[in-house]
Amino acid sequence: MSTTWHILGAGSLGTLWATRLARAGVPVRLILRDHARLASYQAGNGLTLVEHGIEHTYPVIGETPDSPEPIQRLLVACKAYDAQSAIAQLQQRLAADAELILLQNGLGSQDAVAAQVPQARSIVASSTEGAFREGDWRVVFAGHGYTWLGDTGQPTPPLWLDDLHAAGIPHEWSSEILTRLWRKLALNCAINPLTVLYQCRNGGLQDHQCEVATLCAELAELLECCGQPAAAQALHSEVQRVIQATASNYSSMYQDVANARRTEISYLLGYACQAAARHQLVLPHLQQLQARLVGYLRERGLASD
Ligand code: NAP
Repeated sequence: MSTTWHILGAGSLGTLWATRLARAGVPVRLILRDHARLASYQAGNGLTLVEHGIEHTYPVIGETPDSPEPIQRLLVACKAYDAQSAIAQLQQRLAADAELILLQNGLGSQDAVAAQVPQARSIVASSTEGAFREGDWRVVFAGHGYTWLGDTGQPTPPLWLDDLHAAGIPHEWSSEILTRLWRKLALNCAINPLTVLYQCRNGGLQDHQCEVATLCAELAELLECCGQPAAAQALHSEVQRVIQATASNYSSMYQDVANARRTEISYLLGYACQAAARHQLVLPHLQQLQARLVGYLRERGLASD
């Protein structure tokens, strides 16, 4: 019997993983916030995944954090700002040799979690897959992509990558996972905050090319300084390519703000500015961008952390 995947957070990515693993016959359990969320979940038939307009519902078992069963493998699928508090509730249940797979965007939450549960193996992921919630317990698979996984402390790939293979989750074990996370963070910092400030789709940044180029130069300087020269390579041309390729899309940060949801700013632009400060690196445009974004969020009564 293969090890159960406990999935913490039944949002977009949590559902995307839970449904595909369940479809492949891999044992999965969903950990929901509390008894009220569990009751809401149990009132339906399970988790629904809508893919290419076709929907399937999977009767994945739900539970609350206080359920007694020990946890061997935990997929953490909350937002970066929720990861630590969500894991704190499970601390007593984690097996001595538990493994955590961290799906959070940006940087900062992964180190915080690893320090919180030093006995566990923390595997970090960077994904280009896209999904959104159409309602509670119902998720649309919006963008096919790839997930890179890696462990900065231990290069050996885990055997359960076979489960991902069986579930049809495109993935690769990466020895350069930090470089991938930094690169994605830099792309995000160069694009997402400006789409919020200019209230535009990604393609709207074609009207702000100088500003984008200046930010890319500063971000590349930061990456070099943080020991990530590979993540700095040809950053500006990739940012331009992404802006063109996703011209009609609204960035995730734009969508969070438009829906009055908390953004992950502290783990993206905020993390970049803190890293610059740690290295005594003066990056005026990046710092100004953060101040403008924080001001913009505060003016609208939104969380700015
Ligand atoms: P999401 O749809 O907001 O889902 C987060 C889930 O976490 C929610 O279901 C929430 O529960 C749950 N949660 C929060 N605190 C919890 C707790 N204490 N106990 C149990 N559940 C808890 O977020 P997402 O879009 O899947 O994003 C997750 C991470 O993946 C983010 O860092 C995001 O940047 C990254 N990511 C997302 C995508 C994407 O396409 N969505 C792509 C790449 C990366 P409730 O339902 O009760 O609120």
